[in-house]
Amino acid sequence: MFDKILIANRGEIALRVVRAAREMGIASVAVHSTADSDAMHVRMADEAICIGPPPSAQSYLSFPAIISACEISGAQAIHPGYGFLSENAAFVQAVEDHDLTFIGPTAEHIRVMGDKITAKDTMKALGVPCVPGSDGGVPTLEDAKRIGAEVGYPVIIKATAGGGGRGMKVARNDAEMERAFLTARSESKAAFGNDEVYIEKYLQKPRHIEIQVFGDGKGNAVHLGERDCSLQRRHQKVLEEAPGPAISDEMRAEIGKTCAEAVAKINYIGAGTIEFLYEDGNFYFIEMNTRLQVEHPVTEAIFGVDLVREQIRVAAGLPMSFTQDDLKINGHAIEVRINAEKLPHFSPCPGRITQYHAPGGLGVRMDSALYDGYSIPPYYDSLIAKLIVQGRDRPEALARLARALGELIVDGVDTTVPLFHALLQENAVLSGDYNIHWLERWLEENM
Ligand code: ADP
Repeated sequence: MFDKILIANRGEIALRVVRAAREMGIASVAVHSTADSDAMHVRMADEAICIGPPPSAQSYLSFPAIISACEISGAQAIHPGYGFLSENAAFVQAVEDHDLTFIGPTAEHIRVMGDKITAKDTMKALGVPCVPGSDGGVPTLEDAKRIGAEVGYPVIIKATAGGGGRGMKVARNDAEMERAFLTARSESKAAFGNDEVYIEKYLQKPRHIEIQVFGDGKGNAVHLGERDCSLQRRHQKVLEEAPGPAISDEMRAEIGKTCAEAVAKINYIGAGTIEFLYEDGNFYFIEMNTRLQVEHPVTEAIFGVDLVREQIRVAAGLPMSFTQDDLKINGHAIEVRINAEKLPHFSPCPGRITQYHAPGGLGVRMDSALYDGYSIPPYYDSLIAKLIVQGRDRPEALARLARALGELIVDGVDTTVPLFHALLQENAVLSGDYNIHWLERWLEENM
């Protein structure tokens, strides 16, 4: 096992990894930009190294800064968290070239799954059902129109290199295709430096269901059920829960098995998520994330496992500490993402926290790097806390969420907490009867 690991991230996820490492008796090294000198992850880690100025490109995304920090501190492995370098194959390669261990999948797994067309082809070949659409990239507008007619409108044009909900455009007919195709291409070029796009059938009322998988890199893999992440704004998740209200035990066992077998076949190592749209009883693969997800705590809650601990174990060459048969679901868990944003437009709202009080009590977990007097810097993601609740069943989890939100105090900046208070009054949310488009429509009508 490692003696010391470095965490190439910030905020709540860096703290999350520090906590797992400490419980395992492993020393942790935090890295930070000059904007994060007073951050909680810096205070809680065993050591901290400043790696550059505020812009991520010169700090949290800088290969030489992070690898030098490893060499200076003597850390043997790097945990990337989510975002930043977590799905950067070139970084993984650089880590390996320096005889360090990347706590995550291989550069090759990331490369294959990071390109969405290759990912789809790979999954199709492994027996995973996919959304109908173009066979690979769509080079010209004429091709796009032909595929629109073949697949049947509406269709969605997506960036091959896409992520974070960017570079996606819907076309409802031939006339809309021109604008949608050209905008998707230029947005994709600007955001990802690659203008290749592909086309999928645009599903009208799907749920977003994702399967958590975990592999040991030696041909063994398990699944840890699904998360339903259908409450989304601009294709970004707002609230996640497990198990999914629309998924039966039989369906979970079947799709879970398909996913676990697929990743076992490619000797996948570590945590991964296979994302699907689910409509009328059918699953359609959309993408695989080769990292820990923001919403992993809901899975940890219902299965009683520590996914970060497990990631560190397999990276060190140890076997997984559970088998498929050990994994049993206990109750229901819900996570809400609390952002420092001003409603109704969700505009970023950095600034100083004048008062902070975290909720507690039975079944409540608060993953946050906030503290009284902390100043949220303007340079990074606006996620400031994840509130995760667990109950014996969904109604109990919902009641607990309302109770915990009521206890939370974050003064000094605007947050998205009022959105969750409002959503907990909605029948669709209380009954679990919503699809990926529901929240957008609700926001248009209510905000
Ligand atoms: P990203 O990598 O940018 O997150 P995804 O492919 O995972 O992109 O899609 C993100 C979200 O976009 C999905 O959860 C869903 O809400 C929406 N979406 C993606 N593909 C489709 C589709 N074919 N039909 C309808 N909605 C889609």
